[in-house]
Amino acid sequence: MQLQSYIGGAWRRGRDRGAALLDASTGELVAEASSAGIDFAAALDHAREVGGPGLRALTFHERAGLLKALAKRLGECKEEFYALSYRTGATRSDSWIDIDGGIGTLFAFASKAGRELPNAHVLADGALERLSKAGTFAGQHIYVSREGAAVHINAFNFPVWGMLEKLAPALLAGVPAIVKPATATAYLTELVVRRIVESGILPGGALQLVCGSLGDLFDHLNCQDLVSFTGSAHTAARLRAHPNVIRHSVRFVAETDSLNSCILAPDALPGTPEFDLFVQEVAREMTVKAGQKCTAIRKALVPAAAAVDVVEALRAALGKVVIGDPRAQGVGMGPLVSLDQRAEVLARIGDLRREAGLVVGDLDGFEVRGGDRQRGAFLPPVLLLCREPHAARALHEGEAFGPVATVAPYRGAADAIALARRGAGSLVASVFSADEELAAGLVRGLAPYHGRILVVNRHCAKESTGHGSPLAPLVHGGPGRAGGGEEMGGIRGVLHYMQRTAVQGSPDVLTAAGGRWARGSRLRDPGVHPFRIPFNDLELGDTLQSGERLVTVEDIERFAMLTGDTFYAHMSEAEAARNPLFGGRVAHGYFLIAAAAGLFVDPAYGPVLGNYGLNELRFVKPVKPGDRIKVRLTCAEKSLRADKGWGEVAWDTEITNELDETVASYQVLTMVSVHAVPDSQTS
Ligand code: NAP
Repeated sequence: MQLQSYIGGAWRRGRDRGAALLDASTGELVAEASSAGIDFAAALDHAREVGGPGLRALTFHERAGLLKALAKRLGECKEEFYALSYRTGATRSDSWIDIDGGIGTLFAFASKAGRELPNAHVLADGALERLSKAGTFAGQHIYVSREGAAVHINAFNFPVWGMLEKLAPALLAGVPAIVKPATATAYLTELVVRRIVESGILPGGALQLVCGSLGDLFDHLNCQDLVSFTGSAHTAARLRAHPNVIRHSVRFVAETDSLNSCILAPDALPGTPEFDLFVQEVAREMTVKAGQKCTAIRKALVPAAAAVDVVEALRAALGKVVIGDPRAQGVGMGPLVSLDQRAEVLARIGDLRREAGLVVGDLDGFEVRGGDRQRGAFLPPVLLLCREPHAARALHEGEAFGPVATVAPYRGAADAIALARRGAGSLVASVFSADEELAAGLVRGLAPYHGRILVVNRHCAKESTGHGSPLAPLVHGGPGRAGGGEEMGGIRGVLHYMQRTAVQGSPDVLTAAGGRWARGSRLRDPGVHPFRIPFNDLELGDTLQSGERLVTVEDIERFAMLTGDTFYAHMSEAEAARNPLFGGRVAHGYFLIAAAAGLFVDPAYGPVLGNYGLNELRFVKPVKPGDRIKVRLTCAEKSLRADKGWGEVAWDTEITNELDETVASYQVLTMVSVHAVPDSQTS
């Protein structure tokens, strides 16, 4: 089978046969891949001129809808993906991380975007910045979609998740992707892309695929394009230095090698649950995906006194692992992806053995179940013990991208931190400790050098997602050797694909540009109570100015009796007078917002379905008996829930006193029907 690239809306075969891709267990030919003859300048143009406009025409919520539909569709095809995934050397549970993990990431991004992004094209970032005394000139940061292509260069180890975890945030941001999977496992990515294309869910040009090399694509990148690279530090360094990347300041994100540490804290000695959890985690990380995970544990840092116990416990755990063709019954660890990769790992093990002793793993005499012993890329789990880790080099610099880890003894928590930091920047470190203070000290010491830190104790272990799992809501990436990049992290990951721009001008201009009413903008009198206006007819700036209400001592006392809040500042003139903030008896803040609702609410049945909270509530100035309060309520943000028949409306709300001083400020969050008089079906 010759793999095809999906470029410019059509499947295209390379001009030559290209690289031969072999089954990791049997060495049989699976496919050939070549991108020779592909016009990469045209691929970029297709993304920019067809894919980008198609995606940018959709709102964040509509794009989230695409991701959800895609996730459902891929879920229906997943047995086909699992079957092919065996050929990469993955066991069924390895493939679960890749396939179900990838589909789950699409779902997670879709749901986060629905909850955390507006149903709009532009995202206002942070609060309005007042830049002038009278408030006629202000600033607002906004995020808009970049108008280029996202070039995704992925590693071989996760052909499905690796594509989907980058695709989800790019598409949400309105940026089309050109995906280039690592050639060794591109056949699985190609199959998934075929199912995506057949589904017709994505707009034209939103996704293109390159099976084979990227040819001269980098020569055609411009300042709106982005590159997101996953692979070796060596390749990242070369690509980052491409003259065109430098000339156009092309945004370049890299996830590269990582010497991740797992620390058995000084308190977690043999016999404690944390000791057992540590051993279990190290053994699992060594064998899942045959250790071919960027987040896998490479350094097991243990108290010197516990080193022998750790080695013995790991020997017992690793001794149970059955190595072989993942299609064979009972196999727990498959081969590496290719013989080349195995040769590379064996070379790294050679480096490590110059400074560490081999304690588990018979490189010549291990058993293989199924597969082809000669042509399959099998390797046993290999554990080393490095007694002088400070003097070592390979331990801290040479990533053996396979089932390989080294136990290294440390002397005290500071020493453990120093050894972990020798990785010069890593994706993840984990700490096994039942002592929160000790763990917190380790976290502080490790954090500047790591993108993620997992702390495991007996209380969270059962539900812990583990050392090696990057999660959609959390940042994946790390400083230094790990590439200096950051992916995912929820909506943070979407923003990497967008341009943040500071807009300065009058509040009315900022309202129009940011899609969010800015304080100081024109107030609009809609002619009726705004609560009578259905969602689609409400306009930003639609305002209600309420009448006044006199606040009395009786109000305060009745509110105190009703709620039980008899705090002295509300109840005792003498004690309130001694309070440096009040100088006398004051109304409850919660009474003010309740009284304000009494001033602004329109009670009759209508489009406002409910109030689901308040944002940014601040009590700015105390209100005393005898003060008169009034409210301004302005439609400030709208976000339609298209499938629900209502939208969210945030009302900018200000309570003022008789001197027009602001006493409280907040946003009232409501759900407003698209119908003037909703019936029971609309909500
Ligand atoms: P690699 O050789 O650097 O390849 C990574 C990707 O870059 C592949 O798609 C590869 O395509 C492509 N590539 C290579 N040369 C290129 C060029 N000149 N122009 C454009 N693309 C090019 O890495 P690998 O050895 O396959 O992967 C293993 C490494 O990846 C390990 O070191 C591991 O730590 C790292 N990794 C990191 C993460 C992370 O998230 N930090 C995740 C997984 C893996 P071809 O396959 O066609 O050569």
